[in-house]
Amino acid sequence: MTNWYSQHFCEHPFQKNGFAALNSQFAWGGMENQTLTSICPNCWSEWLIAHEYAHQWFGDMITCDTWADIWLNEGFATWSENFWWEKTGGYSAYKNEINYDASSYLSSNPGWAISVPSWATTTPGVNTLFNYAITYAKGACVLHMLRYTLGDSLFFATMRSYSNDTNLRFHSARIADFSEKVNMITGDNYDWFFAQWIFAPNHPVYANQYCFENLGSGNWDVRFLIRQTQSNAPFFTMPVIVKINFQDNTDTLIRVMNTHNYEEFVFTFKKQATSFTFDPDNEIVLKRATLTQGVFYTKTWTGALSDDWNVNENWSPTGVPASESVKIPAGLIRMPVVRNHGMSCGSMLIESGASLSVSAGVDLSISGTVIRQ
Ligand SMILES: [Zn+2]
Repeated sequence: MTNWYSQHFCEHPFQKNGFAALNSQFAWGGMENQTLTSICPNCWSEWLIAHEYAHQWFGDMITCDTWADIWLNEGFATWSENFWWEKTGGYSAYKNEINYDASSYLSSNPGWAISVPSWATTTPGVNTLFNYAITYAKGACVLHMLRYTLGDSLFFATMRSYSNDTNLRFHSARIADFSEKVNMITGDNYDWFFAQWIFAPNHPVYANQYCFENLGSGNWDVRFLIRQTQSNAPFFTMPVIVKINFQDNTDTLIRVMNTHNYEEFVFTFKKQATSFTFDPDNEIVLKRATLTQGVFYTKTWTGALSDDWNVNENWSPTGVPASESVKIPAGLIRMPVVRNHGMSCGSMLIESGASLSVSAGVDLSISGTVIRQ
């Protein structure tokens, strides 16, 4: 365990280490005193030791600066506890533990963020600060999703750089110290990751849709619409992996960056797709998700500024929509104008930068929802 943690973080930071089992007056599972961890009676279990020992790095060597930074202690130790299983049972053993933590969070999420800034000066109740679902389970899962987002090379480079930083070793750290480390190592800006997963509550609720379209001549489109429907959290930007299986028994994994709601991806193949899976390895562990097959809009506006809604050639496929769901795409200024004949359609997606204008006195009938990006 010393070697495993030393390889991935930094050399064990103290000259010695011990564990002491206490009597039943000790109310906790373990307490990570520097170099001498306390554990409860008959608690000598591998997972608890892995957790408490990881605290020698995250908690004892680098201590959370305020209670608002408790993630740097408990989230890291809980993730490290899972990471120990990767040493003994391989990646799937690690991932099983992460999935277990995700279930714990999803089944009992109390709805606050991992870090609330006011905790820096006003200490919350112990059941808030050390809430298992948030501080431990969600905390570990967020570190896993950072690993997934960055990839192993950049993630472990970040962990090593953080652990070896002489400004932080044997001092304290704030979450910003860690997120700045991520930005420095990657040469990119990941503040959005921390804003949504650490400083905002809850998780994404996906209601995704896909469809297969036969383009003829053996060509097929796979269209994928990513929707997030949660109202108790902002939109979550995340890399998303999809798996597509084909009629010839081959398959492919595609990774895309989902940066806004109602984002659509279209993949074209020279073979027929037969099945579609969203996040097949459950890398975005903190989520709820549904996936439905079906066409989410059947017509796309291809006209330009001030062209008329009621002209067949302004739509793809050609023909004026009646009850179909339609998309007014971004790109060029796309502004269909409804002049004389009225207009009806199902749902309508108006992408950012596009719009629709209707002359006074014209009948308007939309049976579904109008979505503006
Ligand atoms: Zn702990």
